[in-house]
Amino acid sequence: MPTQLRNHAGPSRRLRFSPTAEPNRARPPVVPTPGHATGAGTVGGVVEELAVQCSAKRCREAALWELRWNNPKLHSDAYRKIWLACELHRETLGEFLGARGFLREVTAFRPTA
Ligand SMILES: [Zn+2]
Repeated sequence: MPTQLRNHAGPSRRLRFSPTAEPNRARPPVVPTPGHATGAGTVGGVVEELAVQCSAKRCREAALWELRWNNPKLHSDAYRKIWLACELHRETLGEFLGARGFLREVTAFRPTA
């Protein structure tokens, strides 16, 4: 049987270093992205709290309130959208929804229920 498997895992692994690749001159410093540096101090099993922030744009406050609403034109009667709101935005978001007749109820939001 002329079954010849040529398995030349030969010494063809050459790493090429070109000495002129990148001279060590002015590079912009690498700035670590803030807010992405979690993981270092996480204690076993404790997952970072997420998505418990106020739903208002650019607001990073912790959510204290749930605003439950629906749009009768889009949603069925029992459907509820939930926005989370901090103390401040409970009013502004509530007004926004209330003015459109969307707001159904506001309840306290408890992240650790
Ligand atoms: Zn807010």
